[in-house]
Amino acid sequence: MQKDYIKLKNVEYIYRSDFAEETDVKALDNISLEISKGQFVVVIGRNGSGKSTFARLLNALLIPTEGFVYIKGMNTKDNKNLWEIRRTTGMVFQNPDNQIIGTTVEEDTAFGPENIGIPPDEIRKRVDEALKTVGIYEFREHPPHLLSGGQKQRVGIAGILAMKPDCIILDEATAMLDPVGRKEVMKVLEMLNGEGITIIHITHHMEEAVKADRVIVMDNGKIQMDGTPSDVFQNVEAVKKMGLDVPQSIELLYELNKRGFDFPLDVLDFDKVAELVKKAVNG
Ligand code: ADP
Ligand code: MG
Repeated sequence: MQKDYIKLKNVEYIYRSDFAEETDVKALDNISLEISKGQFVVVIGRNGSGKSTFARLLNALLIPTEGFVYIKGMNTKDNKNLWEIRRTTGMVFQNPDNQIIGTTVEEDTAFGPENIGIPPDEIRKRVDEALKTVGIYEFREHPPHLLSGGQKQRVGIAGILAMKPDCIILDEATAMLDPVGRKEVMKVLEMLNGEGITIIHITHHMEEAVKADRVIVMDNGKIQMDGTPSDVFQNVEAVKKMGLDVPQSIELLYELNKRGFDFPLDVLDFDKVAELVKKAVNG
């Protein structure tokens, strides 16, 4: 496993104000971290904590004000790396409707590879393969705007897959979806991760966060916690202080502890919760 597949070194990002009466905003404050190839990382944090700025730095849509971002060793400040960085780290955004370009699903999916000059028969092959991977192949001739939210986001992911990425960054890509759509997208992400694609998923849904290898909690432009889901979420009070929920299993044990029990708080599995409660009740 390549450990520093993605590397941030003392990264600061400041949004400069164009107007004298407004102040600059320091959105990211001295962030250093490494992400290994093949990791499934979930990033959580309240609104304004810096998550989208972080995501945009990974894709070289933004360049750090101070410090460096390296993607597979490529410095995002070096213009000659931009195309390769954007091809290898695809971004999926919150609103699927803003990402639709083509009049059919397959045209939409072909847009990325066309743009980087892939030959037509290779595009054909890649588009079919990508649409099959995300389970949308049967809709390939449909207009994308008629699909459900979950289907649209899967088309968005297919468009990235057709570029043969090794990392996919999702900036609240499940936020506008219903529970079914969210599950569809998570299933695709888990499958792609199983094939070795690095996933960086920004979300407000803790049931998605528990599926990750690693949870990064941001607050006030800084990384406040970084660990496995159970490492992070067992710090219930600290997580809540940052305006975030904990997964339901932990919430339940936490509430029981307030009523006199003494359960461990690092439990993400409901069968385990049931077992612990049964034992405590039956003595
Ligand atoms: P999140 O995605 O966690 O909500 P953002 O990265 O969007 O956080 O924002 C981090 C901080 O930067 C916030 O204070 C936000 O108001 C500010 N910010 C974000 N985008 C801009 C912008 N284009 N211009 C000025 N300030 C911005
Ligand atoms: Mg955001």
